[in-house]
Amino acid sequence: MCLFCKIAAKQIPARILFEDADLLAFHDVNPVAPTHLLVIPKQHLTSLNDGQAEHAQMLGKLLLAASRAAALAGVAETGYRVVVNTGASAGQSVFHLHVHVLGGRSLAWPPG
Ligand code: AMP
Repeated sequence: MCLFCKIAAKQIPARILFEDADLLAFHDVNPVAPTHLLVIPKQHLTSLNDGQAEHAQMLGKLLLAASRAAALAGVAETGYRVVVNTGASAGQSVFHLHVHVLGGRSLAWPPG
């Protein structure tokens, strides 16, 4: 079982913000911004590359959950960034699809 599957199964602790039957939002253990949340599907997909038409509803829910997480963290009005690192060159280090929600400071563009 992968790391984020274990978090979804509560086999590894995490600071959970909210969850439902399909997804989980929790605090990143190594935040790179004052607000750094992760939203994951409970279903294991290795990355966005695994997304198929059958996952459309779940992928939509992930984005809505990212927006909800930003609102709960108080960064919806000031601004936040939603990031899905996909593949090693993009910096993906955990190979279970996840959405980063980053905010609470000015974020540079383009990213590194
Ligand atoms: P990525 O590099 O896009 O794959 O992002 C993986 C993220 O997972 C990183 O920001 C890590 O800090 C975070 N992370 C790794 N292990 C844990 C954990 N046990 N709990 C919460 N976040 C984690």
